[in-house]
Formats: sequence, structure tokens, C-alpha cells
Amino acid sequence: MENNSNWICPTCGASNTSGKFCVNCGSAQPAAAQPEPVVAEPVAAEPVQPAQAEPVYSQPVYSEPVYAQPAQTTSFKTGMGLAIASLACGVMSLCLSYCYGFGIPFGIAGLILSGKAVAAGHPSKMPLAGKITSIVGIVLGALLFFILIAGIIAGAASDR
Ligand SMILES: [Zn+2]
Repeated sequence: MENNSNWICPTCGASNTSGKFCVNCGSAQPAAAQPEPVVAEPVAAEPVQPAQAEPVYSQPVYSEPVYAQPAQTTSFKTGMGLAIASLACGVMSLCLSYCYGFGIPFGIAGLILSGKAVAAGHPSKMPLAGKITSIVGIVLGALLFFILIAGIIAGAASDR
């Protein structure tokens, strides 16, 4: 039964019920009986963790590869002459294919010019049209040419 007001004098052994001094000898109440002063424990400073710098993963900036697109950068004028020429030759080869195969050289020229127009970077479909007409002209011309030759041979044979 601990009570601050009830203490035994360490000097004379008298039991005191109250007061800070012994009623028998007058010595002061020992400090030990007094409640221990609360020693403020030094608050351990919480270790301040250094703000962890968030690792910045520097992503290498991939510069988007710029693909040179000649079709977009060049104007329609690029290779326009070649394109027109190839188409003209293709049409000529078509028209002349019925005429003893004279269209074939035009068709070949049209094919070459078409390839040159594309190589020059002409963006339109004109070289393609020239190429197609040229091929058709060559095929038709060759076909009719061989029919013609066959006809001549047949005619020569029948003349015998
Ligand atoms: Zn005392």
C-alpha cells in the first residue's frame, strides 16, 4: 500500500502519516519516497530517412526515325514528263498493236519510261497506267504480230 503521505522516517524509524518532515525527529522525508520525477527521456529523434530520391529512369528519347518519303516531299512535277511519256507510249503501243506489231517498240519505251518516272519519284499513278498500257500493248502487239506471221505463213503455204 504505497502512499506518499504514509512514510517511515529513515532516521528514527517513526511512522509518519503525512507531512514532509518526520513528526518524531523532524528530518525531512527522503526523496526516495517521493515519486520519481519523470525524466523526460530524450525523444530519440526519429531518424529522418533521407527522402529517397525516386530513381528517375531517364528513358532515352527515341527520336522517331524520319523516313524520307520522297512521294510526299516531291511535287507532282517530279518525273511528270517521264510519266506522261510512258502513258503516251503505252497508249500508242495499244493503238498500234493492231497495226502489224508496230506498237511493241512503243510498249517497250512506255515500260522503260514508266520505270524511270517511278525512279524519279513521280507520285501519281500515271507511270503505273503507262506501264499497264505498255504491257497490254506489247502483249496484244506480239499476239497479233504472231497471228499475222502465222497468217502469212499459212497464206504462203496455201499458195503452193
Ligand atoms: Zn524521524
